[in-house]
Amino acid sequence: MTAAVTLPEDRWAAAVALIDAAPDATLVCHVAPDGDALGSMLGLARVLRARGLDITCTWGDERWAVPSSYTWLPDIDTVVPPSRVRAAPSLLVVLDTASRDRLGVLGPLADAAGSLVVIDHHAHNSGLDGVQLIDPAAAATAVVVEELVRRLVPAIDADTATLLYVGLVTDTGSFQHSVTTPAVHAVAGRLLAAGARPDAVAQQLWGSRPFGFAQVLGAALSRLSLEPAAVGGRGLVWTWTTTDDLAAAGLTLDEIEPVIEAVRATREADVAAVFKQDADGTFRVSTRSRGGTDVGAVCAGLGGGGHRLAAGYTSYDDAETTARKLLAALETAPQL
Ligand code: 5GP
Ligand code: MN
Repeated sequence: MTAAVTLPEDRWAAAVALIDAAPDATLVCHVAPDGDALGSMLGLARVLRARGLDITCTWGDERWAVPSSYTWLPDIDTVVPPSRVRAAPSLLVVLDTASRDRLGVLGPLADAAGSLVVIDHHAHNSGLDGVQLIDPAAAATAVVVEELVRRLVPAIDADTATLLYVGLVTDTGSFQHSVTTPAVHAVAGRLLAAGARPDAVAQQLWGSRPFGFAQVLGAALSRLSLEPAAVGGRGLVWTWTTTDDLAAAGLTLDEIEPVIEAVRATREADVAAVFKQDADGTFRVSTRSRGGTDVGAVCAGLGGGGHRLAAGYTSYDDAETTARKLLAALETAPQL
């Protein structure tokens, strides 16, 4: 069975040595954190705290807030805004963050820290030194964390298992993506054995949404466009949401993340895109491919990044211009 994470053994040892030498550590995930970013960070934090380190968890959003969809996570009350972090931590652990700009306002921490460990599964991780626990073939950052944690403690508790399971189940699309290998299910099995409850996690992640979500989804679907000739004839389906939609429904941006799920299955389009207007007027663009197009490369070309079949970027244009530029970029997208 291919391992869930493949890294040389001395790399793990180097990370463990840095952890053992540090009295304190700051754990940072990417801006606008998702389930894998938060679950990996908070899961590792529990283990490091148990080993006696003084731990701070944060991320570098300018308008910082705990995403409302994740307020139920164990230990979420321990996270602090970026203004409250130690200026020079003994150890900085960066999780699920493909590039330095995804550290947001916390970019300078990477230079100020005594030592650095980078834990990730993005293919194009770059711009940060330190011990690199990066496996682009890993299904989630949580899988890399689980492998590290097995080298730190003999067993994990139910809350740690739940946090890592959240990362695993979100980044594998509930074990539906092609990254779902036998080894991934073995990791899930260990997390369930340690006390993660898949029914409870699924209920929180997908079985509980505010009424306003259905209203914003309705607004998004009312603007849906299908361009069958786009992407070299493979097709694009796209729509957008506005800050007015959010205000009318009383929602925050993170709560409408699942809008893309409602459109990505469209058979006539290989690529789906949703542009979500943020409070500063920019659009957070989410893209997905049904398997034929490397949207990660396209989004990287537009200033963002991600994975081959799920990626994103920020657009500083209006919705129409955003669509025009995305259509142009998709014409030369790498075919899979
Ligand atoms: P989502 O559409 O769920 O926001 O993002 C899908 C994936 O694309 C994420 O898992 C993340 O890896 C990546 N991603 C989204 N936005 C950005 C961005 O602005 N920059 C980079 N580097 N990656 C992004
Ligand atoms: Mn991830």
